[in-house]
Amino acid sequence: MPKSILKPQLGEKCGVFGVFGPSLDTSRLTYFGLWSLQHRGQESSGICTSSGKFFSIHRGLGLVANVYSEKNLKKLKGGISIGHNRYATSGGGKIKFAQPVYDDDNRVALAHNGNLPVTKALKVFLKEKGINTFGHNDSNLMHKALQYYLIKGHSIEGALKECFPLFTGAFSLVLMTKNKLVGVRDPMGIRPLSIGKIEGGYVLSSETCALHTVGAKFIRDVKPGEIVVVSKKGIKSTQLVKGEEHLDIFEFVYFARPDSDLLGTSVYQARKRMGALLYKQHKIKADVIIPVPDSATSAALGYSQESGIPLEEALIKNRYIHRTFIKPTQRLRENSVKLKLNPIKSVIKNKRVILVDDSIVRGTTSKNLVKMVKQAGAKEVYMVVSSPPVKFPDFYGIDTPDQSQLIGANKSVEQIRKYIGADKLIFLSLKNLIKAIDLPKVKLTTACFTGEYLIDIGVRNRGRVKYVDL
Ligand code: AMP
Repeated sequence: MPKSILKPQLGEKCGVFGVFGPSLDTSRLTYFGLWSLQHRGQESSGICTSSGKFFSIHRGLGLVANVYSEKNLKKLKGGISIGHNRYATSGGGKIKFAQPVYDDDNRVALAHNGNLPVTKALKVFLKEKGINTFGHNDSNLMHKALQYYLIKGHSIEGALKECFPLFTGAFSLVLMTKNKLVGVRDPMGIRPLSIGKIEGGYVLSSETCALHTVGAKFIRDVKPGEIVVVSKKGIKSTQLVKGEEHLDIFEFVYFARPDSDLLGTSVYQARKRMGALLYKQHKIKADVIIPVPDSATSAALGYSQESGIPLEEALIKNRYIHRTFIKPTQRLRENSVKLKLNPIKSVIKNKRVILVDDSIVRGTTSKNLVKMVKQAGAKEVYMVVSSPPVKFPDFYGIDTPDQSQLIGANKSVEQIRKYIGADKLIFLSLKNLIKAIDLPKVKLTTACFTGEYLIDIGVRNRGRVKYVDL
């Protein structure tokens, strides 16, 4: 068995949102935008607004519902607003890492989705300028570099241009100065960011689902390597560096909401096609299909429609319990599957059940689910997964454990099947996953399945990665 080869650092899979509209209640719109992006981060939330003269900020730990009140929303005044929901694996519960990052001089506020796996150049630069880097994460360091150039008199566009070579990694940023709203995507376009038009202004959002919530109309995605600046003069685009689209494939598999479109493709339809292709790939005879809610529901529907096997919602989710990944220890994670899902015995009893989930990461969830469904009386349980085994950690903003904990990196499919206790186990092939997404492979980052890291991951670099094809 291969030993742990790669250890991830702090990973942030976040939601960012921004509004420009002098006549609009921008903080309230941002607040509702963040509600729609809650699935992208539950550790902390924050909103920063600009009145044109000064910033107002409110940040707190926990869910959007816990962080804001009518009182503090009213204090967030101004025609520009940016917001952030944060999700991180470590240091997660610390308010000091809550975003937006801002400075007391009110020069720039920043909300970051993604991760810079290598910050060496950025740190060297800041140290050379006498700026303290100790205890700061990648987002703070980015903010400090921008601040440096703004203090020197650069415009935000100029500051970004200077800083771009230092920002080595995945970043979809929503930034704000006193009078501008700015959207930026890294040259690889690893994380999504879309532009919307609202009456009286513009909106930037990690996902299109949040545009609809606030009544904005989708215009287009921010291009990789592009900066989009919204000011009183309107919207202006600058292609800062040559970019190429390589959106993280896991956005389609798990992260994004099904009612979002990514690169013009409906996440819902893509997931349904994943389900249909799973059936075509391996036809299983069974009595009932049960999705693992919520992220696998669309794939299960696709499987059901293709196979003609009825779908039943026999695992009921307690919608008030967060994602199991939030719990840091294995023991708590195991318990939280039971806390989160409850089986309906009358549907399951004496049936051959196909359980559909979107991914197997550590294998803990599947193991507990198979046990739960068997205890509910299933005759046989077939685990069907709408992605290939996750074999590599992600360093571009996804929360994945280190490689030693990725069951797909350490066990063969047959060994995983035995471990989770299923009677059959089928993973969607990478080829079919890409076919379902219906975008050219070059437009997608597949690192978590293939180990093909498109952006330098520094000491965790490819030379040290042994591709494990079990
Ligand atoms: P595991 O127990 O580690 O195999 O977890 C797999 C389950 O977690 C599946 O039901 C997925 O829907 C879900 N999942 C996959 N990736 C993530 C992630 N990065 N954060 C939270 N949940 C995830």
